[in-house]
Amino acid sequence: MEGCIFCKIVDNKIPAAKVYEDSKVIGFLDIMPANKGHCLVVPKNHAQTLAEMGDDDLCATIKAAKKVARALSLSFGNGSFNMVMNNGKEAGQIVGHAHIHLIPRFQKDRLRIKWSHLKYGENEINEYADKIKKFI
Ligand code: AMP
Ligand code: ZN
Repeated sequence: MEGCIFCKIVDNKIPAAKVYEDSKVIGFLDIMPANKGHCLVVPKNHAQTLAEMGDDDLCATIKAAKKVARALSLSFGNGSFNMVMNNGKEAGQIVGHAHIHLIPRFQKDRLRIKWSHLKYGENEINEYADKIKKFI
C-alpha cells in the first residue's frame, strides 16, 4: 500500500527494531512507547482494521501476538501486559494499517487504560444485543 508506514517496514524500506517475523506477520518495538518494551504486531498484508483482515492473517497475527507477549514477559516483564487494538479514527488509530499493541505493565507505572462506566436504561442492554445480533 503506497504511503503506508507499516507496509514500508514490512518491505524493509524503513528500519524497525524487529523482534518477530514469519511469512505473514512482523513484530517490532513502538518508537514512541507507552512503556519501554511496547511492541506492535502487524500483519504483512495491508488491511486498515480488524474487520478488514482476512481470517488467515488474523489467526497468524493473534498467534504471533501470543509469542511476542510471552517473550516480553520472559525477557523483562512480569506477565502483565495490555493488548490493545485501535480500530478507526474515533478509537485513536493513527497508523491506518491494522496492528496490535502489546504494552508491558509494571507496578506503579503511570499508564492508565481504564474507562468510566455508563449505565443502560431499562431493557436497553437487550435492545443493543438484538441490534448487534442481526449483523452477526
Ligand atoms: P495507533 O494509534 O494504534 O495507530 O498506533 C500507532 C503506533 O505506531 C503509535 O504508538 C506510534 O508510536 C507507532 N509508530 C508510528 N511509526 C512508527 C515506526 N516507524 N516504527 C515504530 N512504531 C511506529
Ligand atoms: Zn500498510
